[in-house]
Amino acid sequence: MAQPIAVSKHVRRAGVEEGLSEFSTQEMYREILSRLGEDPNRDGLQATPGRVEKSMAFLTKGYDEDPTKILRGALFDVDYDEMVIVKDIEMFSLCEHHMLPFFGKVHVAYIPNGKVIGLSKIPRLVEVFARRLQVQERLTRQIADAIQDAIEPQGVGVVIEARHLCMMMRGIEKQHSSTVTSAMVGCFRQKETRSEFLALVRQQGNGTV
Ligand SMILES: [Zn+2]
Repeated sequence: MAQPIAVSKHVRRAGVEEGLSEFSTQEMYREILSRLGEDPNRDGLQATPGRVEKSMAFLTKGYDEDPTKILRGALFDVDYDEMVIVKDIEMFSLCEHHMLPFFGKVHVAYIPNGKVIGLSKIPRLVEVFARRLQVQERLTRQIADAIQDAIEPQGVGVVIEARHLCMMMRGIEKQHSSTVTSAMVGCFRQKETRSEFLALVRQQGNGTV
């Protein structure tokens, strides 16, 4: 099958295995389909390698985005020192162990120390890290660290509640269980601040997935 070699941004990350670099991403997906026992030439599958390539590029576009750049230009000086909280941010990611989706809600809070981040940038920040191959713990930590580095607040708290298809589809865990992870930095390590944050997360709206 002489398909042109796709010149996508993924090519530069491909070719780790000697000898495979001459194949396009789409050719490799065709190969996978046939190894799964499918006929990549049947009607329903002919365009699948192309669609998968596109969809995977979208789901991993966070590798090409720089969280520092996103936050730059969206930092404002304030003399506000109460908790800022953005909750129920929708999150979709792929687990790095199975490349299957995990998804849920992210809750972010911080107490400023002279600077705040434009509110719309927090969901963007979540997106940059979620659109990569991830483990939920690292995703949680990366969001907290990025905010800490950007505005050096008094503290940051991040909680993620997510459901993992790699567990649900393979029957490893009950289908409705969700995994909760948290990262607490600075004053969020203190019991009082942490409890206030967690109480705010649980208040109103349904914080669970
Ligand atoms: Zn997994």
